[in-house]
Amino acid sequence: MISIDDLTKKYVTGKTDFFALSNVSLQIADGEFVAVTGKSGSGKSTLLNILGTLDSPTSGSVTVDGANLANLAHRQIAQYRNKTVGFVFQAFYLEPSYTVYDNVELPLILAGKVGDNSGKVNAALQAVGLLNKSSEKARTLSGGEQQRVAIARAIVNDPSYILADEPCGNLDTTNSNKVMEILADLHRSGKTIVMVTHDAEDAARAERIVTMSDGKIVSDEKTVQTHLA
Ligand code: ADP
Ligand code: MG
Repeated sequence: MISIDDLTKKYVTGKTDFFALSNVSLQIADGEFVAVTGKSGSGKSTLLNILGTLDSPTSGSVTVDGANLANLAHRQIAQYRNKTVGFVFQAFYLEPSYTVYDNVELPLILAGKVGDNSGKVNAALQAVGLLNKSSEKARTLSGGEQQRVAIARAIVNDPSYILADEPCGNLDTTNSNKVMEILADLHRSGKTIVMVTHDAEDAARAERIVTMSDGKIVSDEKTVQTHLA
């Protein structure tokens, strides 16, 4: 579970302090699917990046599975990023000249698994419906396919948490729907998902919507699911 307590992120620009996050507290239980929404500049990415240890807070704490992220040693942070959380970004960040397979295998290599990784890589590609593109270069895929490869890469180490920042931000409606269906499948399989989105329809597919404004949480509501998953 994730416990965010009194989190603040302050930027000092000139003589004024700017609070990208201001006293944010939030608990996310295991297996939840939470959408974080709000206008551009409201602090969504800052919050997600701190959750992922890509950024650090000015004050306050984040505890994941009982461990305060601020107290992790370098080695533990690397392990946290590689195995505890899986990241999905708006811009995919694949290695364009690598094959789809090699992109998905990368986190396993980084974790020191240099043997035959085909079982895990193929399972991850299967989960996003792209096993047939395994040997293609990443750059030859459509944007929607590239984002599905990025999701396969995020789940290949079987993380408990998936952190997605505007995963559909660069996609058309059809591809957005595919990506949202994959996230819903992962949620059903037991993953905890925190997804930043400014799209109300995508947010409505989560179980819970946290809305931010000016670095603060202004609402936190369960959604009414209109169809049985
Ligand atoms: P969102 O993802 O909701 O659009 P962000 O978390 O990216 O918002 O940004 C929150 C606010 O923090 C924005 O106003 C942004 O301009 C500001 N901000 C982000 N990074 C910096 C920085 N390095 N220096 C100053 N302000 C920053
Ligand atoms: Mg953002």
